[in-house]
Amino acid sequence: MTAEDRTGWWDAPASDTWTCPECGVSSPVEQWAERRVGCPDDGDCGDHDGRECPACTEVFDHVFGASPILKASTTAPI
Ligand SMILES: [Zn+2]
Ligand SMILES: [Zn+2]
Repeated sequence: MTAEDRTGWWDAPASDTWTCPECGVSSPVEQWAERRVGCPDDGDCGDHDGRECPACTEVFDHVFGASPILKASTTAPI
């Protein structure tokens, strides 16, 4: 847990919790573990930065996963 964690992650918002687009559970940002995920496109760019939902262990990479996290987090009731 660093100050950097509060600035958001790619498109994911700088908030206390993120809502998982897969399972709909809101979890504290610090519980989303950092994961390296393989590039789903071409692999030329190496591994992607990813975060794992602590509730369902689904991993979201920064290219395709951050926006859905933002959408789920901003539309979910607190
Ligand atoms: Zn890539
Ligand atoms: Zn989840």
